[in-house]
Amino acid sequence: MFDAGLETLPRERLRELQWRKLGAMMAGLLGTESGNRFVKLKWAGAGLGAADDVRSWEDFARLPLTHKAELVDDQASHPPFGTNLTFPLERYVRVHQTSGTSGQPIRWLDTQESWDWWIRCWGFVLRGAGLTAADRVFFPFSFGLFIGFWAGFEGARAIGALAVPGGGQDSATRLAWMDRIGVTALVCTPSYALHLLEVARERGLDARKLGVRTTVHAGEPGANIPPVRARIEEGWGARAFDHAGMTEMGAYGYECAAQGGLHVNESEFIAEVIDPATGRPASEGELVLTNLGRLGSPAIRYRSGDRVRLAEGPCACGRTFLRLENGILGRLDDMLIVRGVNVFPSAIEAIVRRFRAVEEFQIEVFRTGELEEVRVLIEAVDATLTGAVEEAFRAEIGLRLEVCAVAPHTLPRHELKARRVVRK
Ligand SMILES: [Zn+2]
Repeated sequence: MFDAGLETLPRERLRELQWRKLGAMMAGLLGTESGNRFVKLKWAGAGLGAADDVRSWEDFARLPLTHKAELVDDQASHPPFGTNLTFPLERYVRVHQTSGTSGQPIRWLDTQESWDWWIRCWGFVLRGAGLTAADRVFFPFSFGLFIGFWAGFEGARAIGALAVPGGGQDSATRLAWMDRIGVTALVCTPSYALHLLEVARERGLDARKLGVRTTVHAGEPGANIPPVRARIEEGWGARAFDHAGMTEMGAYGYECAAQGGLHVNESEFIAEVIDPATGRPASEGELVLTNLGRLGSPAIRYRSGDRVRLAEGPCACGRTFLRLENGILGRLDDMLIVRGVNVFPSAIEAIVRRFRAVEEFQIEVFRTGELEEVRVLIEAVDATLTGAVEEAFRAEIGLRLEVCAVAPHTLPRHELKARRVVRK
């Protein structure tokens, strides 16, 4: 564990710790001299003027939820960084931007303190996956605006591992570089881990011989979709771990050796699950998070847009942090409604990925009149495979979906978040 004292705290003590951190953060946000304009204005609208107004967890649950659209609007009217800032601009040392996969991108600033906090959060992720100072951790992506792997890279250094950058290289060069350096761990999106395997195969290279024993994945739900995980683990001869984080929030979710879902790092985040329609607490619904270590640019009761299900009972690993069963089940705004049936793209992926001959796929969404329809394109040499995939959809999600075969290498590959749902 990264911090066994915190990760095994009894639940009541954990709640006390969260409460203390929350109180300190609220005092800083509402401070009379500086303070955070965005939060002050939002809470004033809900009748809250001082940290003392929140006296219990019930009061906390009445604080207004934060929606992504509010932050987008705030930045549009106060460019370029908006008003969710607790300190003068000179206190901030890093800027990143959300991917914009669901709507307008948001820029996010960090202070030195909150950047150190990000790195600490990644310590939980990497240690949870069993990485140690002996590991050489490879980050095969271009170091751009996306925050996740910058923080992960620093996190690897923070646990004493060797952090290996992989920017500015194509996939074949990355494989050669991994071999030369003796990389033991790989951090990337699940899609990219699969793509690297494809490139290795094309070059007659057995990726299992590279010596990677651990892979850590974020950006997409893939590592918690069993056939995706199996494909990554078999291809690399490694164990694959899931991780969840958001630019606006931090690196909050990670897996342990027991792999019974994603633990939420409750020493640094408060997690709630709500029914997205009513806002009431639920065991399955939308994940709402509050970060406790990012005073300069916080996200409080932030609607993640992710659908999750709380796991029951303690984890075999001994951690007391709650778990999200099967990780992130899908983005609420990605959910497709096909002839009245709700389908997440991850459910389609879980079926398609079982067919070994299918290297890549795409979900086309189009409208026929008022109805949403879905067509699934699969890269397959053997066109008769489409019938088998259609049959699997029918049997498992109860839907007749059209499946079309396309030639190998005709669908896009993705380095960061895959965009496999295409609206026509
Ligand atoms: Zn565990």
